[in-house]
Amino acid sequence: MIFQTTYNTLILLYFLLFVGGCVTNPVTGQSEVGFVTTEQQIAIGEEQYRPAQQMQGGLYTVDPELTDYVSTVGKRVAAYSNINLPYEFVVLNNSVPNAWALPGGKLAVNRGLLVSLRNEAELAAVLGHEVTHAAARHGAKQIERGYLLQGALLATAIGVHGSGLGNSIMQSAQMAAQLINTKYGRDAERESDFYGTRMMAKAGYDPYAAVTLQEMFLKLSEGRDASWVEGLLASHPPSAERVQNNRMLVDKLRSDGFTDGEYGSDRYQAAIRQLKADKDAYANADDARRALQDGDAAKALSLVEKAIDAQGAEPTFHALRGDIRYEQGRYDDAVTNYNRAIERDSGFYGHYLGRGMSYVKLGDRARAKSDLNASVELLPTTIAYLELGKIAEAEGNTDLAARYYQAAGQSEGPVGEEARARLARLSRR
Ligand SMILES: [Zn+2]
Repeated sequence: MIFQTTYNTLILLYFLLFVGGCVTNPVTGQSEVGFVTTEQQIAIGEEQYRPAQQMQGGLYTVDPELTDYVSTVGKRVAAYSNINLPYEFVVLNNSVPNAWALPGGKLAVNRGLLVSLRNEAELAAVLGHEVTHAAARHGAKQIERGYLLQGALLATAIGVHGSGLGNSIMQSAQMAAQLINTKYGRDAERESDFYGTRMMAKAGYDPYAAVTLQEMFLKLSEGRDASWVEGLLASHPPSAERVQNNRMLVDKLRSDGFTDGEYGSDRYQAAIRQLKADKDAYANADDARRALQDGDAAKALSLVEKAIDAQGAEPTFHALRGDIRYEQGRYDDAVTNYNRAIERDSGFYGHYLGRGMSYVKLGDRARAKSDLNASVELLPTTIAYLELGKIAEAEGNTDLAARYYQAAGQSEGPVGEEARARLARLSRR
């Protein structure tokens, strides 16, 4: 939908850019037909990394040492990926057990996955698998096959930044969502298991951890745990076949001399001790969010206050308390809570969006505008554009209001509808 306006440009660029060609897969060493270059993959990854992080809960900030630790393990594994991409690893503030890789080597692991792993070798298995997705061009191939919006490539070709407000920014968020949620297919998953496990073995970890990890996934998928099914297991369906393949590979690796790899259990448990200590607090906050969605603000409030008592340094707990106060119509109190969230993490769009919406309700146009703008800088949302449009309209800036409504009107649902209605009314004037 969003891409209709750029469709002709897209076709044109196809002819200009995609004459096709031969590339060597750095991981498998085989040559394959492809046209997305390494430089383009790096550009896509760098462009989409921030929106992808923001829409998945933002960075985990309570224990920054955990991110350093994951990054160290990731770089140790990625050193054996056969391609020197600008690898980066972050921990996301998200309870869903998941991990993903963007083209060009930009990776993320959710805290919900980290708290479930048992040792550093299992983490190395996850990261080796994800590094392989990036290194073996799996995301690039999805773009080449047309399974992903080619806009990902287009955006970097024409430069998302230059166009400022509106379409292209919204597109960047759409692309990030697609890149995170892409399913690579069975062959790519097999390849990532195979080369990822070899990678971790070469990096000095016991490859058998890849088997125990798969066994854990298989068990969890049988248990039908909702958060696992929507997380890692959605894109990585575990199977007895995958476990068996990994077992055979480990036997082969052992006979090739990879026999004294480490597990790093103590080191891993020390690294996640803060996460483990806060496990109940995050569970309470997740329950609070569900209660709020179900319309039970009182229950949500008592749950989130438990979470704040247990871990007051977590910014999203304060922001959630702000969301509850907002729902209750207590906008001053909401602002106080969002302030606390922003004091603890000034880099998450949701805190600014919440405070900006509260200022809208309080009639403080200047502060609302400043916060809503801060939020769209981090992650463009249709609700922020709609409110910015209303402010621009109230200030008599009709052209700007129209552009905001146009951006917001690209979405489905009540926000898009309201934006389109307002735009139609503006153009009739
Ligand atoms: Zn995978």
